[in-house]
Amino acid sequence: MHKHHSALGLATALRPVQPVTLLRPHAAARAARFFVEKFQGRSMYAVKANPSPELIRILWDNGITHYDVASIAEVRLVASILPQATLCFMHPVKAEEAIAEAYFDHGVRTFSLDSIEELDKICRATNDATDLTLCVRLRVSSEMSKLSLASKFGVDVNEARELLFRTRQVADALGICFHVGSQAMSPSAYVQAMERVRAAIVSASVTVDVIDVGGGFPSVYPGMEPPALEAYFGAIHDAFESLPVSYSSELWCEPGRALSAEYASLLVRVERRRGDELYINDGAYGALFDAAHIGWRFPVKLLRDEPSRARNVAFSFYGPTCDDMDRMAGPFMLPADIDAGDYIEIGMLGAYGCAMRTGFNGFTAGERVIMEDEPMATLYVADDEAREAVSSNVIKL
Ligand SMILES: *Cc1c(COP(=O)(O)O)cnc(C)c1O
Repeated sequence: MHKHHSALGLATALRPVQPVTLLRPHAAARAARFFVEKFQGRSMYAVKANPSPELIRILWDNGITHYDVASIAEVRLVASILPQATLCFMHPVKAEEAIAEAYFDHGVRTFSLDSIEELDKICRATNDATDLTLCVRLRVSSEMSKLSLASKFGVDVNEARELLFRTRQVADALGICFHVGSQAMSPSAYVQAMERVRAAIVSASVTVDVIDVGGGFPSVYPGMEPPALEAYFGAIHDAFESLPVSYSSELWCEPGRALSAEYASLLVRVERRRGDELYINDGAYGALFDAAHIGWRFPVKLLRDEPSRARNVAFSFYGPTCDDMDRMAGPFMLPADIDAGDYIEIGMLGAYGCAMRTGFNGFTAGERVIMEDEPMATLYVADDEAREAVSSNVIKL
């Protein structure tokens, strides 16, 4: 892969016809080191946010040893890239064959569940193994998150008693896990979830060895500027310390978005302008699924040799396919004189961006290049001055 110093330089030098994925390994490495150093427990990477083998290796090289996988394909992928990594199969509804392959062929010992049926399945598939860490997924509120994960999985705290009790009987280590929803905008989301954990532990009177607070750690997007991650870590640690768990119990988290968002952005070309609508060469079936389907706003920047002096106005985007739904409402703030042939960088697409790409209608990913500049925003450079110093590329959203 080629290395480039700036997105602007790349756009003006190469004038790429296809969208280009801009990768920033140093940003992913920084995020990994931040979690490893500052989260007072174990951070495992939720692979679904971005399963790129290069990223998985970068996270490993920077101290992430545990990986949250949710499908047998993710198990095989991470096992093949990192034979020494610890894999945790954290999907509460699995195929029995997947559990068996994960356990017998890939050494997976940690599984999540939210029903007696799944517990029975895990016992059958592993031949009643006695070396399992089983995490009961509790349903918690998603009200402080931008993306709910509250309805599909999780046992209600009022119904968790029997499941915790039965799981305790077969598990070598018993865990309780939850997910507060993605892009949790307040640390109190975790504190409230921990209160439900406490209620579940008290009502079942079981010894709990692992508390897994899941993902949900935020990144920065326009209109979504969360508190510092240290505030989340502090609140979680305090809540964990006050739980009635065994002395040797462990605290885990499963960040997906926070570890991968800054890793990638996208360089796109405007193919047509129609009023305040820009037809660009990537979209809902490419890396912009969330922008299209849940109205997510990503940072954007016009890349021109001679910077535009026009004021910023609100644009929406159309993607390249023939589908009307291939539309991203934004608003995306860009200079009023933008036109066909211009290049735009769309930032923060490392999480749930590149991972969602399809080949629909023949529009596939273009080149991937490694960048040495800074992502368009970052949560990992502490104070404002340092932030300025790191790069002129870091923009105020
Ligand atoms: C998606 C998912 C994650 C990662 O969530 P983020 O919001 O990206 O941090 C973690 N754990 C589980 C079980 C998930 O399904």
